[in-house]
Amino acid sequence: MIDPDRIGNMQSTTQVAINSVDCPGCGARLAIPGGLAEQAEFICARCRIVLVNNEHLRKFRWMDQDEYVRKHGASRVNLWGGTLGSVIWLPIFFTVVGFQGKLTFGFAAMVAVPYLAMIWWMMKSRADASATLWQSKLFASIGVYFVYLGGMLWLVPEWNELFASFDSPNFLAIIGMGITFAAMGTIGALMYASKAKKLPAAETFEESS
Ligand SMILES: [Zn+2]
Repeated sequence: MIDPDRIGNMQSTTQVAINSVDCPGCGARLAIPGGLAEQAEFICARCRIVLVNNEHLRKFRWMDQDEYVRKHGASRVNLWGGTLGSVIWLPIFFTVVGFQGKLTFGFAAMVAVPYLAMIWWMMKSRADASATLWQSKLFASIGVYFVYLGGMLWLVPEWNELFASFDSPNFLAIIGMGITFAAMGTIGALMYASKAKKLPAAETFEESS
């Protein structure tokens, strides 16, 4: 004979297990909103990342992730590989300019300092955002950098001449490209936010937050 009370207990235990997931964005233990359909989207109430209610998510365990991934949002190889890839043009560019005897400290600082600061900031913020939102932010940041770069070339004629000697686009084209990138990134982020706003939020369990 099976005790009906036991079945009740078993069911409620299973219920809790099925309805709670680990947030891949921030690691919070989340209670999936009641009655949420399979494959339906929802957001994490803590980090607001958009998630899909499916088997893949239910199998995901935050603690199975590498400690580095949990802290930084990507593996060391991916994060540093991406960072290295995004700054490699700087030494190449400076070497070429240097060989022509045109490299000045002011020019190098103007080009590199804000760029490196931006990359550093993007790297640090990787853990706080979903990949989609982070890419939008990256687009917008690169756009703002281009606007800045074009603006500086416009302000300082020597720098503009130096740039022009490389067959590079003129400052107006750079500013235009920057505005396009910034707009694309901002639209992407806004679309993500407006989508997230319409989705149900999964609250965190007290004990794990
Ligand atoms: Zn989260």
